[in-house]
Amino acid sequence: MNISILETPIEYLKGVGPKRAQLLNKELGIFKFIDLLHYYPFRYVDKSKVHKIKDISGDLAYIQLKGKISNMQIVGSPRAKRLTATFHDDTGAIELVWFKGIRWFMDKFDPDKEYIVFGKPSIFNNKYNIPHPDIDPVPEHDDPVSNRLEGFYSSTEKLKSKGLSSKNISKLVKTLLKSTEGKIPEVLSNQIIKNLALTNREKALLNIHFPESQEQLQKAQARLKFEELFFIQLRLLVYKITRMKRSKGRIFTRVGNYVNEFYKKKLPFELTGAQKKVIREIRADMGSGSQMNRLLQGDVGSGKTLVALMSALIALDNGYQTCLMAPTEILANQHFNTISRMLEGLNVQINLLTGSTKSTERKVIHENLINGNLHLLIGTHALIEDNVRFKNLALVIIDEQHRFGVAQRAKLWVKNITPPHILVMTATPIPRTLAMTLYGDLDISIIDELPPGRKPVKTYHYYDSARLKLFGFIKDQIKQGRQIYIVYPLIKESEKLDLKDLLDGYESIQRAFPLPDYAISIVHGKMKAKEKEYEMQRFIKGETQIMVATTVIEVGVDIPNASVMVIENAERFGLSQLHQLRGRVGRGADQSYCILMSHDKLSNEARSRLNTMVNTNDGFEIAEADLRLRGPGDLQGTQQSGLLDLKIANIIKDEKILKYARNLAREILDKDPSLSKSENLPIAKHLKYLNKTAPSWVDIS
Ligand code: ADP
Ligand code: MG
Repeated sequence: MNISILETPIEYLKGVGPKRAQLLNKELGIFKFIDLLHYYPFRYVDKSKVHKIKDISGDLAYIQLKGKISNMQIVGSPRAKRLTATFHDDTGAIELVWFKGIRWFMDKFDPDKEYIVFGKPSIFNNKYNIPHPDIDPVPEHDDPVSNRLEGFYSSTEKLKSKGLSSKNISKLVKTLLKSTEGKIPEVLSNQIIKNLALTNREKALLNIHFPESQEQLQKAQARLKFEELFFIQLRLLVYKITRMKRSKGRIFTRVGNYVNEFYKKKLPFELTGAQKKVIREIRADMGSGSQMNRLLQGDVGSGKTLVALMSALIALDNGYQTCLMAPTEILANQHFNTISRMLEGLNVQINLLTGSTKSTERKVIHENLINGNLHLLIGTHALIEDNVRFKNLALVIIDEQHRFGVAQRAKLWVKNITPPHILVMTATPIPRTLAMTLYGDLDISIIDELPPGRKPVKTYHYYDSARLKLFGFIKDQIKQGRQIYIVYPLIKESEKLDLKDLLDGYESIQRAFPLPDYAISIVHGKMKAKEKEYEMQRFIKGETQIMVATTVIEVGVDIPNASVMVIENAERFGLSQLHQLRGRVGRGADQSYCILMSHDKLSNEARSRLNTMVNTNDGFEIAEADLRLRGPGDLQGTQQSGLLDLKIANIIKDEKILKYARNLAREILDKDPSLSKSENLPIAKHLKYLNKTAPSWVDIS
């Protein structure tokens, strides 16, 4: 079998050459023959089916019509010009419309000729039209061997301008498939193919591009989806096996004084059942002899900090050090303050290390880490600097992990010779399917219960035009002794504009809530850490009633008396961010509110996001909705790493295949952990190839 032909640079495919190759690299990430084979059509059109205009009704998908084009004209105001045409067959007429490329299309069609028009009818002014249709002349002779299903490839303006339209990409694929005929190796075992009645790989790749029937297409898709998910799961499981073998991990056998004393004397409330369960799981891991690698998921406010603290105390009881890393200084400060308070009188040495720690203090911390006097170090990225060394670090806790880059996380591991146990905590609930794919090699604990007595946050959506109503509501809440957050988006690309929004907003809020009756804090990313901390403290102490902030307060901040969260420009936030922000309130005993302020005009997607927020408080439901609305590629933490660059499978829609693939991968590895049985050789070979060529998402944690 020959892998190498598939590895040929795309440049050498007939019809490509260096210039187009460069474009294909840049625009579509196609570098090699195999990449083009994996560039699947995003849609198929049944070319055997021609609709009649009179049959157009309801909500239609893409359709094909056959008829003549007449009456081309430019209409609309000079600033909103469009080109329209009448398209008719023997049953009726429909309007075609272009908003772009008006000049170019204007004289392009011959009124006497028949054309095939392809597009998606939409309704405008109570009439159907077809915006930006694809138009082809009716072929002179109907090509009897052509496929009835035609694949459409997504292309870009740049590619099209260099002659790489969907049609031409299809031609390239055809050429390619001819040259690779008989040379595409199977990567699954015969058993799998037989047991699951899968199409073989070569045939699947042929049929996904040029299907002759719906059935063929479906079979090809099923096969390729299975293959994709199977190898993801296999890699994750292999990685896990290796990790378990490799990393011995400190064994924590004792539950000693620190834990007991804390539990008996210090714990301000009863642990929830979910917290107890999770602590048990963590304890079992840390006593098992292998390195713990656990992801702790718990909705905002579910009490993860306490779990972290108790885990640290277990480490301490066994004579080891712990570090707790948070994504922002504010959060690190807050952890330090709450944890210090909870540990008062327990003789646990704890310190804070962030970017603003003075160098004299830094020196002391470094010394105490090395000599073992310091038990628990809390901090930000500053913790992963090279000169931070521990005497015997045995537990690393990472809070709100999605904020950390892959490389940053990896850096903590190598600090000690025996790797520390890892506990990664996240409040972004990850749907199970995604967790299985992303963190398949991690063990997952879930806190699925909030501490008792919490009232669900009430969420409302106001349009900007209702601002006076909002101000009235805020005044009323302040009168009742509550505190208010008002949050503005801060998006990297438009940082300056956002900051201006924030400052403008601050001013108008100052006008509406003037001194001396009201006092307002402001916190944003451009402020020095000291200033931020000062403003936070004023708010925490109740000296100010309103906190105007950017999303720096998004994660983790815990101020029970703040019971109203106003989110400005809420339409610009993603769902998980909105949920995080809302999680800042609802922590005390009072009824809390989240008010989503938005533009009066909204896109459908934005509306649907805001509705989701109004309708549910359940983080998992929100995460699922997020996944549906945006697709997994956009979920926090996955984007940067390009982890879920799935070519064909969809982890929501194909959950069944995913589960099946996972179980099968596990079964195979149980029987043949090194994949050395002859039947598994194709699998082993492909796995090796993937490890060499595909980015390894398994290294992320
Ligand atoms: P998160 O999981 O979002 O990090 P925190 O750890 O900040 O949540 O906890 C949120 C709040 O709930 C804190 O004020 C904490 O003291 C409180 N809390 C935690 N566990 C319990 C519990 N078992 N009973 C009552 N309150 C609790
Ligand atoms: Mg937290």
